[in-house]
Amino acid sequence: MQRSRRKAALLLAALDIGSTLVARSRGYGVGGNAVVRCRRGHLFTTLWLPLVSVKSLRLGWWRIQRCPVGRHWTVVVPVKESALTGRERRRAHARHDVRLP
Ligand SMILES: [Zn+2]
Repeated sequence: MQRSRRKAALLLAALDIGSTLVARSRGYGVGGNAVVRCRRGHLFTTLWLPLVSVKSLRLGWWRIQRCPVGRHWTVVVPVKESALTGRERRRAHARHDVRLP
């Protein structure tokens, strides 16, 4: 019982790290400072690390956290920086929420 529970936890941790690495290799900034977009379209930078998140609720690829641009709680998703225009990228980097994962 104990052992299988630990196995499940290890598997979840491995999946989380694995999906972060895959996303990183595809041009997403996760696993460090990531540019994310909220439901209302605000762009900002947040610290996105696998396994740890104290300021947000992780739902796999989505996270529920506070948007520093619109000052509201929202669902955010990582965006590819290469898909942004220069202006969007500058604006996203100018807005950084609290430096906690
Ligand atoms: Zn927002």
